Amino acid sequence: MPSYNTEVIVTSARRYGEADRLLILFSKDRGRFSAIAKSARKPKSSLRGGSEVFIRATYQLAEGRSLHIVRQIEIIDAHLGIRENWRRLQMAGHVAEIVNKVSVEKIPDPELYGYLANALKGISDGSDDAVIRFKAEVLNHLGVFPELAGCAACATSRVKGDVHLSNEHHGFLCVDCAKDKGIWHPVPMSVLYLLHGLREGQGDLIDPDLSDDEVKEILEQGDEILTMLIQVFLQHGLKTTGATRHARNSKMKNDKKLAKDADNN
Ligand SMILES: [Zn+2]
Repeated sequence: MPSYNTEVIVTSARRYGEADRLLILFSKDRGRFSAIAKSARKPKSSLRGGSEVFIRATYQLAEGRSLHIVRQIEIIDAHLGIRENWRRLQMAGHVAEIVNKVSVEKIPDPELYGYLANALKGISDGSDDAVIRFKAEVLNHLGVFPELAGCAACATSRVKGDVHLSNEHHGFLCVDCAKDKGIWHPVPMSVLYLLHGLREGQGDLIDPDLSDDEVKEILEQGDEILTMLIQVFLQHGLKTTGATRHARNSKMKNDKKLAKDADNN
């Protein structure tokens, strides 16, 4: 069997048989495909460390009849920081799921590969905005980042007052069009600024004078919109959307607790 080398990121690793791992690999120059790492779960296997999920590595593979077979692995970046906590694991699982779903099997997409590599490195390093930047890059790359300049229905460029998100129009509607179409999904101006910054790839996304809670809230609202747009593009839900909701849930819990405390007083 002829073998070849390619740089990959492991986007999924599952137990297979007695001691094997069944991998989904996203290769820089070959796109997404499945491979088997035989005996990789045995303690002394040379494939053990390099066949874990989220690893970036150079793989030597052989083309089998149905699955590619992993021969050797040289790790480029193990992204060890991802394994430090559950939340980072969830975030990494979320970006990996998006790549597995938006990529087309065996079609190379080196740009998407670059976005994934950056996102995993950012998550591993503890970045707060690695995931939302990744989603914005993916939407831009797919050509479906929402229009931010005006109303997506009537093309008014100067929109006054609230804007409302419309899945159907893949963008934002002025309040008149939103009323007309029975849509009520107001999006705060701070979130629109965030989306604008993301589209332009700006370094500073959020007003530094805001509190941590406000920043979290804006990032989460922006994230929800981008996630929804990716799901609309896929015409399919994502399984891992909970990965980015942590902060808001804990804030809600906190608010409930405050309300309860207030009732008791
Ligand atoms: Zn309009």
